[in-house]
Amino acid sequence: MPHNHQPILQTRNLSKVFITGMGFAKSRLVAVNRAAFQMGAQGTEIFTIAGESGSGKSTLAKMILGLLEPTEGSITFRGRNVTSIKGRKDRLWFMKEVQPVFQNPFETFSPLNRVDDYFLETAVSFRLIKRRQEAPEYLEKFLELVGLSLHHIQGRYPHELSGGELQRLSIARALMTRPTLLVADEPVSMIDASLRMSVVNLFRELKDKANVNVLYITHDLATAYYISDRIAIMLRGTIVELGPVEKVLDHPLHPYTKILKNSVPEPDPLNRLQPVRLSGIESKEFARAGCKFAGRCPSAMAICETQEPEAVIEDEREVKCHLYSESQGKTTA
Ligand code: SF4
Repeated sequence: MPHNHQPILQTRNLSKVFITGMGFAKSRLVAVNRAAFQMGAQGTEIFTIAGESGSGKSTLAKMILGLLEPTEGSITFRGRNVTSIKGRKDRLWFMKEVQPVFQNPFETFSPLNRVDDYFLETAVSFRLIKRRQEAPEYLEKFLELVGLSLHHIQGRYPHELSGGELQRLSIARALMTRPTLLVADEPVSMIDASLRMSVVNLFRELKDKANVNVLYITHDLATAYYISDRIAIMLRGTIVELGPVEKVLDHPLHPYTKILKNSVPEPDPLNRLQPVRLSGIESKEFARAGCKFAGRCPSAMAICETQEPEAVIEDEREVKCHLYSESQGKTTA
């Protein structure tokens, strides 16, 4: 039975607004719209934010990493407000606790430096070791966790390793500070399809072996289904459905999630490993006053054009859709 813990991460009413253009051409884009979710309340987990390009998921990840200031709302990590973590000591604590894994492993490592030097630099800058002589033993532990060894990488340059190996290395580097949370933004999209699943599986293994929570940001529902405990579906800045991954992807309630699910033709989850590309961006959807999906939704009603739906609990998940709003009466879609 899952136990209730304090969430390690909690966002409340979190929004990011970008102002683009100047003068009369000025426009306001709500890239993240009142996002509210928590992680870790029932133990270590992999929580996925899934959405197409332009859904706001990467903006959300940047705010969580402290790289972007929210326009409104709050982010709490282990009881501390992320935006108020300012001093050097506190920033160092946060950077150790919350580690990013980026999309392109070839950009993580300088082509001019040997990859083991990069590890040494991380160990020294985070003061993870007292003396340089301790480095090999320290590094070996983390390389082992990702299925590599110091012998394999020592003295090698990034171009001598595959994309899959480099991404394993960047995950090992992220683990060196013993973080509570990895924020992995599209971590396998730049890796060869043949190696993708082995890296995805690694996150699942690390959740247990290194007791690390993973916030997995992806456009790919297939890998999300495979590794997540819970998932949030994002559409034009808004989380429209959030709950256990089997509930949300096997029995979606929100009309948008249903369309995504139907783009995965294979019912057997083990065969769903091909990436699923979601539909193209419609920037006017961001500007809609009501539900962002109203222009494409087969179930749209008059209210959907003008009023943004609030989250309601339905069948063990949160869903933002007027089909389930109290004012409409509950229906089975
Ligand atoms: Fe469709 Fe209306 Fe639900 Fe939006 S709120 S998904 S338009 S039924």
